[in-house]
Amino acid sequence: MNALHAPVTSLKGVGEALVLKLARLRVACVADLLFHLPLRYQDRTRITPIGTLRAGHEAVVEGEVMASEVVRGRRRSLLVRLRDGSGILSLRFFHFSPVQQQQFRPGARIRAFGEARAGATGLEIYHPEYRLLSTDAPPVEDHLTPIYPTTEGLHQTRLRALIEQALGQLDAAPEALPDWLPDSLRQRFGLPELHHCLKVLHQPPPDADPDQLASGLHPASRRLALEELLAHRLSLREVRLRIQQDGAPVLPGGRSLQTRFLTQLPFSLTGAQRRVLDEIGADLGREVPMLRLVQGDVGSGKTVVAAMAALSAIGGDCQAAMMAPTEILAEQHYRTFRAWFEPLGIEVAWLAGKLKGKARLDTKAAIQDGRARMVVGTHALFQGDVHFQRLGLAIVDEQHRFGVHQRLALREKGEAGGLTPHQLVMTATPIPRTLAMSAYADLDVSIIDELPPGRTPVKTVVVPDERRPDVVARIRHACAEGRQAYWVCTLIEESEALQCQAAEATHAELGEALPELAIGLVHGRMKATEKAAVMDAFKAGELDLLVATTVIEVGVDVPNASLMIIENPERLGLSQLHQLRGRVGRGSTESFCVLLYRGPLSAHSRERLGVMRETTDGFRIAEKDLELRGPGEVLGTRQTGLAQMKIADLERDADLLERVSPLADALLASHPEASQPLIRRWLGEQAGRYGQV
Ligand code: ADP
Ligand code: MG
Repeated sequence: MNALHAPVTSLKGVGEALVLKLARLRVACVADLLFHLPLRYQDRTRITPIGTLRAGHEAVVEGEVMASEVVRGRRRSLLVRLRDGSGILSLRFFHFSPVQQQQFRPGARIRAFGEARAGATGLEIYHPEYRLLSTDAPPVEDHLTPIYPTTEGLHQTRLRALIEQALGQLDAAPEALPDWLPDSLRQRFGLPELHHCLKVLHQPPPDADPDQLASGLHPASRRLALEELLAHRLSLREVRLRIQQDGAPVLPGGRSLQTRFLTQLPFSLTGAQRRVLDEIGADLGREVPMLRLVQGDVGSGKTVVAAMAALSAIGGDCQAAMMAPTEILAEQHYRTFRAWFEPLGIEVAWLAGKLKGKARLDTKAAIQDGRARMVVGTHALFQGDVHFQRLGLAIVDEQHRFGVHQRLALREKGEAGGLTPHQLVMTATPIPRTLAMSAYADLDVSIIDELPPGRTPVKTVVVPDERRPDVVARIRHACAEGRQAYWVCTLIEESEALQCQAAEATHAELGEALPELAIGLVHGRMKATEKAAVMDAFKAGELDLLVATTVIEVGVDVPNASLMIIENPERLGLSQLHQLRGRVGRGSTESFCVLLYRGPLSAHSRERLGVMRETTDGFRIAEKDLELRGPGEVLGTRQTGLAQMKIADLERDADLLERVSPLADALLASHPEASQPLIRRWLGEQAGRYGQV
């Protein structure tokens, strides 16, 4: 048995209670301890002369007690004056025992560690760690002292001792933890050896730079971060390979359906749409499942592309499914597809969590017996009780809202027919290239880099709440000219209830201010049918103004709407604002977006809103968003598996991402057997999750 893979209970003194605490740190086996890296370090390798100490420094000092006394200030404390020939320092204890009072008699020699601060008597250390020295002083530490992230009830020193034990085992049996990056590759990529890295990070030599170590910029942490990114990449590639080993239905057909569809459209496709459709068509004509991401800015016309792809599947005697992240968007797609497909004699079904009872049973039956050729829905589509007769194409809209595993789950739905469906993933959030390489490395990418003709870019203004009356007047004016407007209420996303309340209040308030207008309200707490009715009325032009929460963020399409007010825009991410703003500027009239903030704005918020004013380029906005907020928030990566990185940090290590691909290629070419163990080392049970689906 490999000692490092043994559970932590194999270490001395580890019982049930400790196992639970370690589990909270995601430490289960001995090797996990080795990859549990310090947050920061203390330097206890040298004794600092008291005279050179500065406030804020953590240091070991050694000296002779001059005097000690209990002093009364605001709080009673024991004050110990210590000198070493270079200066004088006070140790201060707010909690102390009579024994301690005894210890600090004049002449006693003390070694103490702690953070110096400016106190009432000059430099002081509160509650230092200390020891009395007898004739011969023990040596100081021979390496920097690691401080680990820990959990309630697990003391730093206990954790440190466990990790030392683990390091001891590694020393005793180095082969138990192989370096899966072979010498040749390490040399080529300039990477230090694994054991050396772990050793350096847990027990850095005295001359190592603690700040460089703690910030993750030390070559040793960089090597581990790179290895972790590599493991994630390998895992995504593996998913891709596994999927591509399955057979997919060959779907060359659908030409005549597509032609009929295109003739009934009121516009012709853009060059970019045609190019992307060619790429999709080539994929669908092969017996390997397509895995393709279509990236196109808000309003670039992804839905038509999805419809054309769906027609290939339907023309090839298969079903197509399209999954959207919100019910409102799923409903809108449902209606769009019905309007497009029913004239072609294609039955379209709709499935979401809210569909209940007999209607649900009927819909599921139509999906199972194949009457429904096109199925639109929310994630309800991939629940266990939904069976397709023959799913040929799974389309996922607004991919950034779904996790990798959710997306892959749709694949199972094809298996009843013995075939794996093709997958088409669509996103309007342009993913910065570095992230795309990491989150979507298993997908081929097509880009719709052209907007349909006749669009005028949305003009954005940033306006303080004091000018609300002007904004209201602006709505009155726009609506008097026959145009329509959105008023979007935002609040912290966690509180949907509050957000709905705010929308209701705003709805009432605007109703009073603008009695001549027909004003609708839509928010997340309304029934699906109510929401749909309001959206319909707005679409049909029966409503002038729509007050909404961010439920309208994705995909809602009303070309006549040319004015959007967003309240408290500083609360939203830039990409989200961009999505919202994309609801206007869909027709040929000039459109406006008013970002109505309640001041004062922080410098940071000002900068962010400034970006919105300056550009309508979704790609630039996404890059800015990444820069200002970090990848976790931009992609909502908590669910995509990206945020579970142990060591790598996608922002800090962005430059490493460029090296991941060549490293993965080189490793797979020369040492393919290393791929599995690397994935297991870094992804553990997550790997199973990617792999299962
Ligand atoms: P998104 O890419 O944001 O999902 P949509 O598919 O909702 O965009 O398309 C936005 C609007 O543009 C829709 O009203 C759609 O009918 C229209 N549209 C799509 N393609 C074209 C085109 N080639 N020419 C004109 N209008 C188009
Ligand atoms: Mg869309």
